[in-house]
Amino acid sequence: MRVDGIKRRECNAGTFLLFVMFAGAATAAPALENFSQQLDHTESIKTTNYLEFVRQLHELEARTTEMSEAQKWRLRYLEGWQATYAGESDKAKLLLEAVINQAPDSGVRAKATSVLINLLGVRHRYEEAFEYLDRALDNLSQVTDREAREHILGEGSQLLSEAGQYDLAAGYAKQIIAEYPTGRLNCLGHMYELQAATRGSQTPVPKALFQDGIDRCLAVGEKLAADTIRRDMAILDMQQNRIDDALSILDGYYAEVKGFDYPDLTAEYDVLLAQVYWDKKNIPYAQKYAMAAVDIASKSDLTEPLVKAYQLLYQIERQYGDLRSALAYHEKYVAADKEHLDDTREKALAYQIVKQEVESKKGELETLNKQNQILQLQQALDHKAVVTSRLYITLLLTVLASIAFWLYRLKRSQLRFMRLARRDGLTGIFNRQYFVDEAEQTLRYVGKSLRGACLILIDLDHFKDINDTYGHVAGDAVLKRAVAVCQCHLNSCDVFGRLGGEEFGILLPECTVIQALERAERIRIAIQQVDSDEDVPLTASFGIAATAHYGYELRRLLIAADSALYRAKHDGRNRVVVSMDDYAPRATTGSGQSRRTEASPYASPAE
Ligand code: GH3
Ligand code: MG
Ligand code: MG
Repeated sequence: MRVDGIKRRECNAGTFLLFVMFAGAATAAPALENFSQQLDHTESIKTTNYLEFVRQLHELEARTTEMSEAQKWRLRYLEGWQATYAGESDKAKLLLEAVINQAPDSGVRAKATSVLINLLGVRHRYEEAFEYLDRALDNLSQVTDREAREHILGEGSQLLSEAGQYDLAAGYAKQIIAEYPTGRLNCLGHMYELQAATRGSQTPVPKALFQDGIDRCLAVGEKLAADTIRRDMAILDMQQNRIDDALSILDGYYAEVKGFDYPDLTAEYDVLLAQVYWDKKNIPYAQKYAMAAVDIASKSDLTEPLVKAYQLLYQIERQYGDLRSALAYHEKYVAADKEHLDDTREKALAYQIVKQEVESKKGELETLNKQNQILQLQQALDHKAVVTSRLYITLLLTVLASIAFWLYRLKRSQLRFMRLARRDGLTGIFNRQYFVDEAEQTLRYVGKSLRGACLILIDLDHFKDINDTYGHVAGDAVLKRAVAVCQCHLNSCDVFGRLGGEEFGILLPECTVIQALERAERIRIAIQQVDSDEDVPLTASFGIAATAHYGYELRRLLIAADSALYRAKHDGRNRVVVSMDDYAPRATTGSGQSRRTEASPYASPAE
């Protein structure tokens, strides 16, 4: 039985009824203030006054540009309903699918879905119908429109009942009853529930429940629904061998049912009456009602009553002994039964396919969820690993930086120590050891090319007296000034060092004796002219030895230069003496004289 009044016209969907009475009598169109009201009104008369409904629809279609989006989609749903009713399946499908996919209102989407499910059932596209039903039932929690909810639940109950899923069908019917404790929809809920229970329940349904359903429907004026429940009550009576009870119901309301001009229910009453009379051995009446059932059912493609009617007629003809007629009815019975079974099987199969698809999709979804969880866990672990490796890298970099810094510090202090090891602490020039090393290296170098070099030894005169007179600090200052004066007269390749106390050495590479003498003389004069705060008188004595006379060995040069220095001291200080054994003695003094050395304290016994 259809709630929204659409009849499955094209085929043999036998249990579907045209329920024209539900919406009540058509009323005159009210004064419509806006489109929403006009849409409400148009929808309310779609089953009761179809012609007026179509007229209103055209009126609304002419003014779509003035409507809101929601109103346009409601209108499209009504157009879909109208196309379904008019048997324009393709057009209806397109309109309804558009509404289902795009309409903003969940109620309109649900109503369109219920009409499309019905349409798909009519066209034997049961698989698609179940798919839409499954989706609609999933989304039902979002549908607040009461009528739309009932459409889906009613359609679900109807379709599942047809597919032999009576328990599920009864479940949805119960949901309708729970949501609508009274009124027209409550009556329909009971009708769906009893229909499913009559066909599927293992235990017999108490008759009181049928009477309760009938009473509820009659209370809201739903006579067709009440007579539908009576049909099921009669079936129950027949199942339980209460033939007279069944006859009393069917006979009592047969005229009323015929008055609805609704072939589905009429054909079923006819075939049930034929069965009752067959059981009561009233063959002529059985034949009469069976023939009536065949007449209506074949016109309206209602296979279920047709199968039963042909079966009865076959049995009746056989009883009469008209085997030819019996055979003809038997052939019709077999053909109708095959068609009916095929259709029933098709529905059941479609249900199973969709059920399995849905279950496998749920399974896939669960697997995906699990995979997703694993992935998220993996990502969290990866993130932690990244954080950890970042920490390690930071730690490593810190350690490396510390090592680099430590190495740098080490190198710097090494260099500092090396410098300190090479330098004299007071004056900053080479110390004795380093002077010796550098001087020897330079001598080796110049020795290879025989370019010659000279060594000058300098000793400050009476320095002890300076210390004694002016103090040790002043003595230090004098030492530094003397060094500074010497440095002013040095070339870049000269090697200069402090050999001890107030004694200094200068090695002059690529230098002749004359040039060394001149350089020493200039330094002597400069030292003599040094100014100091305390006006300390300062002079120095100089001893020179040249490689030209002593060779390139530093030790020999030192002995010779020292010998010349000794001579300079001995001769009165503040002078330069050149040590030249085979050369005319020559020395300079403060008065410009020069002398040659005569002896050396460094001289080896052999010399
Ligand atoms: P002469 O003219 O014969 O060379 O007499 P002199 O006093 O210079 O020679 P002597 O060898 O008797 O004295 C050297 C003095 O130099 C002794 C020492 O106190 C002083 N002296 C050595 N090193 C330093 C130093 O670093 N600073 C100071 N202020 N004095 C030093
Ligand atoms: Mg000295
Ligand atoms: Mg001295």
